[in-house]
Amino acid sequence: MHGKERAMGRPFRHALGVELVLPSNLNTDSLGTFSGETARPADAASTCRNKAEAGMAITGLPLGLASEGSFGPHPAVPLVAVGHEWMTFVDGAQGLAITEQLLCWRTNFSHCLLAPGEDPAAWLQRVGFPTHAVIVRPNGLGAAVAKGLQFLDQLTAAVQWAAAHSNDGSVLLETDMRAHLNPTRMASLRRLAFRLARRIRSRCPACSAPGWGWMDRISGLPCRWCGAPTPLTQFELHGCAACGHRQHHPRRDGMVTADPGQCPDCNP
Ligand SMILES: [Zn+2]
Ligand SMILES: [Zn+2]
Repeated sequence: MHGKERAMGRPFRHALGVELVLPSNLNTDSLGTFSGETARPADAASTCRNKAEAGMAITGLPLGLASEGSFGPHPAVPLVAVGHEWMTFVDGAQGLAITEQLLCWRTNFSHCLLAPGEDPAAWLQRVGFPTHAVIVRPNGLGAAVAKGLQFLDQLTAAVQWAAAHSNDGSVLLETDMRAHLNPTRMASLRRLAFRLARRIRSRCPACSAPGWGWMDRISGLPCRWCGAPTPLTQFELHGCAACGHRQHHPRRDGMVTADPGQCPDCNP
């Protein structure tokens, strides 16, 4: 519905030689969406799988692909907004679902409460309007909303309408995160599609199934002074989507001890 094939088509054609086919009349909103609050990865991954399988049922194709995103404050750095994107590839014949994810530090996700008569120009510039669309709603009124605004005259009219329908004359502006209205998000989806295609090409060292790759990080990098485990990543956990095989890999940056400043014993 949101033109994501523009970002996902080329990576899959180049890396795997497959063409994307869009299912007609598939409204994925009924499968649940993750706009707004950050969702738990397991939920997002299963929503992706449901979406992909719904597309496979309509097209009758044996392979499916879908993506899902959520936006919100970073779990460890609440003042910084991040995007979290998931993408799942399903091979129906092998019963295989391969998911890859991306934490996007580059996002325009933001909102702004506009007081009566206040000029939104600075906020609009910061979120990349008009190449990035925005949403306008009257403050305190849940359902009424003007979405996908990409033109200044459109936006001005929507702000006037929202101010007239708001509790206190103020207006809530939000970034529209739908992919076709948000080039920053579209670029993240392209990166994630390349990452997923690469993962599909990686075989499990134990069972040779496609989809081997990063699954999680394991904290506990030892302190350089006292050796106590710190919250920093010690290993990357790589795994297989088919057989449950797992491997510990050292950190990519080669770091084997943590700065004592990160140690709960040396620097409590
Ligand atoms: Zn220490
Ligand atoms: Zn395996």
